[in-house]
Amino acid sequence: MWIFTSVGFISVVRSDLDSEKLAVRARKRKHLEMLLPDEEIVHLPNRDYKYRVFITQEKFTDLMLKLSTSINYQNFKSSVHEFNYQDACHEVWGVMNRYQRGAEEPVPCEVCGAMFYLDVDPIQGMETGIFGRRCWHCLSGVPRPPQQLHGFILKP
Ligand SMILES: [Zn+2]
Repeated sequence: MWIFTSVGFISVVRSDLDSEKLAVRARKRKHLEMLLPDEEIVHLPNRDYKYRVFITQEKFTDLMLKLSTSINYQNFKSSVHEFNYQDACHEVWGVMNRYQRGAEEPVPCEVCGAMFYLDVDPIQGMETGIFGRRCWHCLSGVPRPPQQLHGFILKP
């Protein structure tokens, strides 16, 4: 689970070392210090998320409760005060906004012009749009079957 809070971003997964624990992972030490000040932070410089704490289900439930009752803003992005983190939140907003638009209406492929949705190609089952506005065929180099010339990626 990804959680964006005013004071930090965390990614929470089941610990692979201890299935009773949750690994709360962060990209910045400060984010864990703000959210879980009493927990020991493990620094793993070569891992994707460099900072982690391992907590029980109960502690995570407490954190979620605390977070939910501390919402006192009408706009999340402006509740973030750390400049670089706020900037990242704006980008995430943009990505999810694009996702929403792509899921609702097709966009033209920037290479071949075929209309396609930015979420998932129903024929290939592949994510589309993640490397720019290119349909799956222009992205993968797999030629388009002739019977599927135009609009084949369109949802019914
Ligand atoms: Zn294309």
